[in-house]
Amino acid sequence: MRTTAEVVIVGAGIVGASTAYWLTESGLRDVVIVEQRVPAAGATGKSGALVRLHYPNPHETRLAFESLRFFQEWEARLGTRSPFVRTGFLQIVAPSDEEKLQANVTMQQAVGAPVELLTAEQVAELEPWCDVRGITVAAYEPESGYADPVAATLGLLERARQNGAELRIGERATGVEIRNGRVAGVQTSSGRIAAPFVVLTPGPWANSLLAALGLDYGLIPRRVQVIVFRWPIEPAPRHCCGIDTALGMWFRPEGETATLVGLEWGFRQVDPDRSAETTDADFVAPARTAIAQRYPLLMQGIVRGGWAGVVMQSPDGRPLFGPIPEYSGLFAFLGDSGTSFKTAPAIGRALAEWIVEGMPRQDVQAFRVTRLAEGRPWIDPTDYCRPDRTVSR
Ligand SMILES: Cc1cc2nc3c(=O)[nH]c(=O)nc-3n(C[C@H](O)[C@H](O)[C@H](O)COP(=O)(O)OP(=O)(O)OC[C@H]3O[C@@H](n4cnc5c(N)ncnc54)[C@H](O)[C@@H]3O)c2cc1C
Repeated sequence: MRTTAEVVIVGAGIVGASTAYWLTESGLRDVVIVEQRVPAAGATGKSGALVRLHYPNPHETRLAFESLRFFQEWEARLGTRSPFVRTGFLQIVAPSDEEKLQANVTMQQAVGAPVELLTAEQVAELEPWCDVRGITVAAYEPESGYADPVAATLGLLERARQNGAELRIGERATGVEIRNGRVAGVQTSSGRIAAPFVVLTPGPWANSLLAALGLDYGLIPRRVQVIVFRWPIEPAPRHCCGIDTALGMWFRPEGETATLVGLEWGFRQVDPDRSAETTDADFVAPARTAIAQRYPLLMQGIVRGGWAGVVMQSPDGRPLFGPIPEYSGLFAFLGDSGTSFKTAPAIGRALAEWIVEGMPRQDVQAFRVTRLAEGRPWIDPTDYCRPDRTVSR
């Protein structure tokens, strides 16, 4: 077991795994990842893991687009089976949000993202099982889909390990050591690791580590649920992934016979160490009613289980990441806000470039951790829902 490292990463969710991958791919060998439970034990393992491009701002669209390309190139880059499944993706909005949708698609196309506008008739052609009533226009991403989030995390960690990183499972970081305003290492449940750079990727467990450093970003851990319905017909229809903000839900295929559904409803603040991992009984009926409005056959869908995970909500609903200016050598990814599986490849790369090259190649200033203290919370005028809302997809 190493007692020194060039970089210590706290947390082996998808962001910690991606950061370890990029650090070691760029030549740093002496990287230690400490994980209190097992890899993907946090939000990542519970993620819906939609991999799509539709965001109401160019900053997240760029991260998502770079990351989609990464997932598409997985086999060539990592030499292992890709965790990504291409299904296509539909963004459906209420007619009152049609102008916002069109503006967002125009912005996404300017970024280079493969996105197009479909009429309701075109949606019906693409998705014969879908009830398109109430849809006037939708955004369609032919290349998007979803991934197995655990396989993605394990795949990135395994490559980092082959590159020389050490993964320490069942070891909890209890504090970051600071000397003269600079990071000196990490204290863990097994001892101390001296390091000039520390990257915090602890998901919903961030607050205690931050509080000990005198940092408070107003982050709130929130529980999010999903449920799986088996189609009541055989063969089950193939369908796209989708977000339907008119109905406040999102969905994707789960294997070949079922559909996974999430709702923009029922979130509550929790302690991530005490949050129930299974779906509440009162989640079933609203989820079934919502998905049946688009796929009426799923009114008879057979419940095959569900689960709940904890995401970390930031005050403006957008992630914060980069250097922590108070302490030289300290970096963090915080407040994933339920939307950071798909963007993790690009986020990990930016964090690694900061450490190795001094600056990320992509402009990620919009995500700086200081924006709330500056009184400049993130606001997207073309968003379809309240900025403070955890949406998790
Ligand atoms: C139900 C649900 C659906 C979602 N759907 C989507 C979606 O469709 N698309 C999308 O992009 N995103 C989605 N998300 C959000 C996405 O899963 C998260 O944004 C992402 O997984 C965050 O990854 P992370 O690595 O930052 O954190 P986490 O996955 O939470 O990982 C943090 C890790 O750090 C470890 N850790 C914490 N503290 C310590 C410590 N002190 N010492 C050692 N280890 C520590 C934890 O055990 C954990 O393994 C969803 C989330 C949920 C819950």
